[in-house]
Amino acid sequence: MLNDKVLEALNNQIRDEFYASYLYLSISAYFEDQTLLGMAQWMRLQSEEEHAHAMKIYDFVLDRGARVRLLALKEPPVDFDSPLAAFEAALSHEQGVTESIHSIYALAKAENDYPTQVMLEWFIEEQVEEEKNAGDVVAQLKLAGDNPSALLVLDDQLGSRSGDENPPE
Ligand code: MG
Repeated sequence: MLNDKVLEALNNQIRDEFYASYLYLSISAYFEDQTLLGMAQWMRLQSEEEHAHAMKIYDFVLDRGARVRLLALKEPPVDFDSPLAAFEAALSHEQGVTESIHSIYALAKAENDYPTQVMLEWFIEEQVEEEKNAGDVVAQLKLAGDNPSALLVLDDQLGSRSGDENPPE
């Protein structure tokens, strides 16, 4: 059985992964509105990936014989000052997720909860990738600056992302 503290932390993390899915879908809608369709597609796929992250923890909680609580999600921002600001919002959310995954891992360790530690190891690796992906786009958008041609080239590149490069198993 999961102890109460670990269970509460995991239920909070399910909420945060669903919020990430919600946030990235909102960012995707912003990019659709800006006619940056490649970036919209990238964020839509990212939103689906976050949904899969939430479900991975959801299934783990159920497998441990504990109760899932689906907590309230806040409304994500609708508008962003620029494509750069939108990707910075995504990066900043991922940095927060990394911190919370690390703190749940530390809690599971302190509670001698080995299965939770093993499950979270996948997330620890995944977060390195998530921060790198969002961070790379932030850096490229800074290079593009106010140059519309550079922005459109980047949009085109991001639109070629496929949906299954790193699926949760
Ligand atoms: Mg995630």
